[in-house]
Amino acid sequence: MPHGKYAQCPHCGKIARGEEEIEELFGYRYGRTKPQSWCKECRAAQGLDDDSECGDE
Ligand SMILES: [Zn+2]
Repeated sequence: MPHGKYAQCPHCGKIARGEEEIEELFGYRYGRTKPQSWCKECRAAQGLDDDSECGDE
């Protein structure tokens, strides 16, 4: 990642470029410091939501 923000969902391969797109498609955790690893759709499909994923690092 040379510059800017970029995220790819390891589950479905969805790509988000830029902070706005990442926030929309993935969401942030830890107070916007780190994008979620999976996109919102995949997390929803797995029964995870923005608030339930924590303490996994
Ligand atoms: Zn996904």
